[in-house]
Amino acid sequence: MDICVVGAGIGGLALARGLVADGHRVRVLERAAGPTRGGAAVTIFSNGAAALTDLGVELGTRVPVGPVPGGAIPVSPAAGGFGPSGPGNGQPPLGAPIETLTSVDARGRRIMRADLTVLWRHTGQQVRTMPRAALIDRLTAGLPAGTIRYDTAVESVRAGSDGAKVVSAAGTDRYDVVVGADGHRSAVRRSVVSPAPAAEVGWDTWQGLTGVLPAIAGGRTGLLAVGTAGLVGMMPAGQGRTQWWFDVRRDDGPTGRRARTPVRSAGCGGGSPGTPNRCRSCSPASPTPTSGGTRTCCTRSRTAGATGR
Ligand SMILES: Cc1cc2nc3c(=O)[nH]c(=O)nc-3n(C[C@H](O)[C@H](O)[C@H](O)COP(=O)(O)OP(=O)(O)OC[C@H]3O[C@@H](n4cnc5c(N)ncnc54)[C@H](O)[C@@H]3O)c2cc1C
Repeated sequence: MDICVVGAGIGGLALARGLVADGHRVRVLERAAGPTRGGAAVTIFSNGAAALTDLGVELGTRVPVGPVPGGAIPVSPAAGGFGPSGPGNGQPPLGAPIETLTSVDARGRRIMRADLTVLWRHTGQQVRTMPRAALIDRLTAGLPAGTIRYDTAVESVRAGSDGAKVVSAAGTDRYDVVVGADGHRSAVRRSVVSPAPAAEVGWDTWQGLTGVLPAIAGGRTGLLAVGTAGLVGMMPAGQGRTQWWFDVRRDDGPTGRRARTPVRSAGCGGGSPGTPNRCRSCSPASPTPTSGGTRTCCTRSRTAGATGR
């Protein structure tokens, strides 16, 4: 079939990889001028890694399956127990493996400790945190040349008895199937489902990659601190970098204001150049580097249409 995927984010690219592998003719339309490499890092859990493996995307996450607590039986389709250099793992692993998630309250008292290696052993896939740019590059590199058409914003989609017509900056084209993977302000959703904008959930997330937390970057533990104002997280993201983020309420009440203050004073979202964690804005309008060894890069996005992270 002729299939149009609108949006070359993680969702659109992953789907395109699977559709191409199944023999479809695929066109990805992306409004940005090139790969959307902005952002900090994302954590791909074992089930996501398994889904990507099924779509033909190797992240280097496969590990041998084995006994898990409680005596459950490993269920991985990759139950061959491939090691790091086993079949399908020819590509270098992305980011850093996360074995443990530790959550503390605002006073540092432990709330929870989750052993993620249980997931590894169940599924044969690690949990890894990786720079978003690296994931986008890995997904893009596996597509046939010319599959993605950049600088092509889709304006609308019209469904008819003979397929769907996609109106974009490049003209009008007909496809058998159109998939909207164009994010929370989706033009496809506006055309096909509802013109109403996605509802904002009232939370902002500020994220960055930094090289100034080597103890965390060198470990295998993700840290979450939860308080009344929101959540702070830190995850090893590979190559000496740590992903940090603040999830804070966006309301104008005292909670939101209090939570944002330390972020601003660290130089993010308003900028205080010269502070130890000097930040570079990397909003979609100015996608500056996210992977510099000792640089810290901040992104701020308004969460919409979702219930948080
Ligand atoms: C630049 C960027 C940085 C991010 N950074 C992080 C991060 O650091 N940490 C984290 O946890 N999550 C981050 N996210 C969010 C995370 O990647 C997504 O929530 C999740 O992966 C969902 O992806 P998606 O493919 O559904 O949509 P998105 O990732 O939002 O991708 C949608 C794509 O569609 C394109 N698009 C939008 N409208 C149109 C249109 N009309 N026509 C054509 N193309 C269009 C966009 O340019 C984008 O490339 C980021 C998202 C983006 C876009």
